[in-house]
Amino acid sequence: MISNDELRQLQEYPSGPDTSVLSLYVNVDQSNAANLNRGFLTAVENLFRRMSDTGENNKATLETECRRVLDFLRDHTPRGKGLVVFSDSRSGFWWQRDLQAPLPTDARWSPSPWVRPLLEVMEEHDRFAVALVDNHRAKIFVGDAAGLLLTSEIMSDVPGRHMTTGTDHIWSQSHMDRDRANHIRTHARRVADELGGVVERMRLMRVIIGGPVEATSIFEGELPRRIQQMIVGTISAPLDSSQDKLLGEVERVLERAEQEDEARLVESMITAAMKGERAVLGINETLAAIHQGRVHCLVVAKGYRAEGRQCRSCKVLVTDDARKCAYCGEELMAAPDLINRASRKVLEQSGRVQIVSGAAAEKLNPAGVGAVLRF
Ligand SMILES: [Zn+2]
Repeated sequence: MISNDELRQLQEYPSGPDTSVLSLYVNVDQSNAANLNRGFLTAVENLFRRMSDTGENNKATLETECRRVLDFLRDHTPRGKGLVVFSDSRSGFWWQRDLQAPLPTDARWSPSPWVRPLLEVMEEHDRFAVALVDNHRAKIFVGDAAGLLLTSEIMSDVPGRHMTTGTDHIWSQSHMDRDRANHIRTHARRVADELGGVVERMRLMRVIIGGPVEATSIFEGELPRRIQQMIVGTISAPLDSSQDKLLGEVERVLERAEQEDEARLVESMITAAMKGERAVLGINETLAAIHQGRVHCLVVAKGYRAEGRQCRSCKVLVTDDARKCAYCGEELMAAPDLINRASRKVLEQSGRVQIVSGAAAEKLNPAGVGAVLRF
């Protein structure tokens, strides 16, 4: 996990006229064949060579810095889909993290760390909590695009399940069972309180729970309703699972939750558009809404492309091949990447852009694009 303090420190890294930081983002996603057997290293070597050839400032220092980073990469086993490095050896500065999100491989040689792609990834991946619970132990993690951090570990004193023999012990057996059940419930309540505190402190919106079925169902029952509603899924990982195994299961749960969110968004947008309520479907209606500054969220099916034209003067985007702008009469220019331009406009208007895939994209096609409107 990357804390807000760390991000702030990176943003405030002291930069002067003589400071140069090498910032590197690497796509190491092992589901991409080109990255297997350290294929990502070749991409980085080529990138560094190009930077050095284009005559960047302080060439010798840059090359030293590149060597330092490459030495690290040669020995590093990727534990995610992306990684980020900031290096400034003259100040003894080194910062590296594995990221669970794939980023395009890119680098900068600049007076301060190039943190923007990192900030974007962090923003895109909301933080979440993972609570693993069994009958007497619990672990609570907080996760983000950089992985999981163990924030609490809880051990409660719960008597074991002692078996008594003989008929005269029937009462004491059931008494002990009841006693044990009470202890387990008290333990679950303790963990629920702890999780509630973590969720509140870190303003989390998503919770994943895991552990043996009996313990997790008691635990879930002890959670306040508002946290129950944050549960996006359960995992079966035992308490002492490795980080890698946990991350794998967590990622599957988050992916499914993401797909469900996307499907809901598309569904409600289509319903609203049909009723003529604050949503539109299709490229023409969407572009018109953007021009009017009405778009709250632009929704695009992954892979959807559109070509059109853009006005030289008022910058309106249109799909027809008219020569003159219908709004201001100026000349229209070709705009082959209509969706990119539309997305930028929406972001400039403080709107959101959501790319949807899978079932949500199928639902959105053939319109391919739509928008949830502010008014
Ligand atoms: Zn115009």
